[in-house]
Amino acid sequence: MTTGSNKHVHSEPLPDNCRFINSIAPTPLIPVQFEEGAATVWCKLEFLNPSGSTKDRIARFMLEKQWRLGRLKKGDKVVEASSGSTSIALALACAQMGLKFIAVMPESVSNERVAIIRAFGGDIILVPKAEGVVGAITRAGEEAERTGAYFPRQFENPDNAEAHRSATGQEILSQIPGGVVDGIVSGVGTGGTIVGLYNAFAQAGCAVTPFLARPIEGEAHRYDIECCSFSGRVPGVVDGLSKLFSESTLPDLVEISVEDDVAIETTRKLVRRGFPVGPSSGLNYAGAVEAAKILGPGTHVVTVFPDRMERYFSTELFNSWDFPVK
Ligand code: PMP
Repeated sequence: MTTGSNKHVHSEPLPDNCRFINSIAPTPLIPVQFEEGAATVWCKLEFLNPSGSTKDRIARFMLEKQWRLGRLKKGDKVVEASSGSTSIALALACAQMGLKFIAVMPESVSNERVAIIRAFGGDIILVPKAEGVVGAITRAGEEAERTGAYFPRQFENPDNAEAHRSATGQEILSQIPGGVVDGIVSGVGTGGTIVGLYNAFAQAGCAVTPFLARPIEGEAHRYDIECCSFSGRVPGVVDGLSKLFSESTLPDLVEISVEDDVAIETTRKLVRRGFPVGPSSGLNYAGAVEAAKILGPGTHVVTVFPDRMERYFSTELFNSWDFPVK
């Protein structure tokens, strides 16, 4: 049946694989406290999504929307510029939907990421490290033009934030005690997470403060790890790159600086406590503890653990970790 406002489109039904994977339960939201008396932070375990990161949310949301609109069908091509997580999520979603995927990434990307994308049947175009994500975006645009591939453009596509507003955010609201969120803390890559979650909570009537966790170079300046950041030193994201974030309105946005060293040490603490997470989870958790101090006792501060630790085995997170020998 069609309504006046919805045009009827002839799209294929979503493939069975895709329907199955969509029936997976919401990711857990759990309170995490490092020690007695320290702040408790509510952590959304997004690394438990099927491809190992929160980017499964946006990958499926953006592709399924195109599919329903009849603009994507089996055998079609998708191209995206991403340093990792989004490419991995799109590669998995494309495998489920019978689409062909091409990831455009700076050549500094880790071997693990390349291997995962190839395993899902994706192709990879590497651009010189010096060109970074900006170069990858330009190259992806050219590839989309040349081949007619769908280019989701995660840095400007409002459906990126919409996926988090309509799904991740609603899950959190139904999981947090009393349905009340006072603070949301996240590092920013595309900004989809913080914009979408803020909007979900604000629209539900929460007086929520958004906190941007910004990684800054620590004294030791030792780490070169992929993590969300505005720092040009960290591959993947460049200051001002995300139109989605720069054009969003997050009233009273509070910035919390977290030294790289602190983000890494916090990540290792989380791993030791049984959370198999990557560096942006340490960044987010450290930022969220500060946010909880600002908002005060009894408030609900929410953050996200975006991705899994395995994709960082070849980085400093693991190879400079002084494992005790017992
Ligand atoms: N964590 C990881 C591992 C990421 O790759 C990114 C972004 N690429 C983020 C967090 C930030 O998420 P968002 O893009 O929604 O701002």
